[in-house]
Amino acid sequence: MSPMSAKRRLNILVTGGAGFVGSHLCDALLAAGHHVTCLESFLTGSRANIAPLLNHPRFALVEGDVCTPYAHEERLDRIYNLACAASPARYQADPIHTMMTCVNGAANMLALAETHGARFLQASTSEVYGDPEQHPQHEDYHGNVSCTGPRACYDEGKRAAETLCFDMQRQGRVDARVARIFNTYGPRMQRDDGRIVSNLIVQALSGRDLTIHGTGRQTRSFCFVSDLVLGLQQLMELEPNPVQPVNLGNPDEYEILDLAEQVLDMTGSPSGLVFRPLPEDDPRRRRPDISAARRLLGWQPEVPLHEGLGATIAHFRMQLDVATPRPVP
Ligand code: NAD
Repeated sequence: MSPMSAKRRLNILVTGGAGFVGSHLCDALLAAGHHVTCLESFLTGSRANIAPLLNHPRFALVEGDVCTPYAHEERLDRIYNLACAASPARYQADPIHTMMTCVNGAANMLALAETHGARFLQASTSEVYGDPEQHPQHEDYHGNVSCTGPRACYDEGKRAAETLCFDMQRQGRVDARVARIFNTYGPRMQRDDGRIVSNLIVQALSGRDLTIHGTGRQTRSFCFVSDLVLGLQQLMELEPNPVQPVNLGNPDEYEILDLAEQVLDMTGSPSGLVFRPLPEDDPRRRRPDISAARRLLGWQPEVPLHEGLGATIAHFRMQLDVATPRPVP
């Protein structure tokens, strides 16, 4: 069910709307009756993700880079700023463009929001906590981030984008909200972008050994994409503005080895495990404290890992054209 009433049909801009999360958000906003414009550079997004929307009467695609100022002719009521490569392999491929996307992109989209009097939501990230010394991470925690490491283009870029949002908010120029998104997974993740869930599933389905970095005892929490999309919409529509960042993620914590075992089990794959060194700056533990989301939005994730993995495995089976194994008689 939609979290908001579709009685008022809003004009909504979604940057990065052909990406993994953005395309699900566009689907949900259209389903709620709104007009949706997707501003997209196709850096990591895919035309296939929005192909079914291209003929939708309330959907428009604008090809462009958020680093360039953008003017929108019709009135805008909401801007969801999701544009930014999210996987380390992709955002480190051109780190300066990543930093510019985070900072200049947010500045340009905030300027657009100010011009239109539109409400603004920034897709921030749990990476603003870096390699956390507090566990689980509460929004008050200021993080442990390297400003010179290979992940800094993303982590520090997102931190700066949050700063811009709160300064615009304090100056009364834009009604800005910040969602700190934790690890999210689901159908339409890219198969080769190096994110843990897609990596393990694709390796399992292709019969290759599953890559585990470090000992595999490091933990992550995994939020299914439909839960996240609901949380983003609820944060955008919350009255009044909570004037604080809000963690959105699933607090259930799993060791990477547990996840790998579940994937092997659910795919019926004969693959083994192969251990590789931990990448630099890789956080050891990550789990959201979602008490603010619960209190402010009444939001919490509903999709259990097993169910979400099932949907994600089905997506990759189709993409890779791998048959579902028949149970052994
Ligand atoms: P994604 O890479 O699938 O999507 C990002 C989209 O932004 C892509 O369509 C890409 O082409 C587009 N894009 C990138 N740079 C752009 C630019 N300069 N101008 C215009 N478009 C540009 O990533 P995602 O997983 O869908 O993530 C969406 C947002 O959520 C990102 O801002 C990311 O930082 C944030 N986030 C995601 C996760 C997660 O687990 N998926 C976790 C934390 C934060």
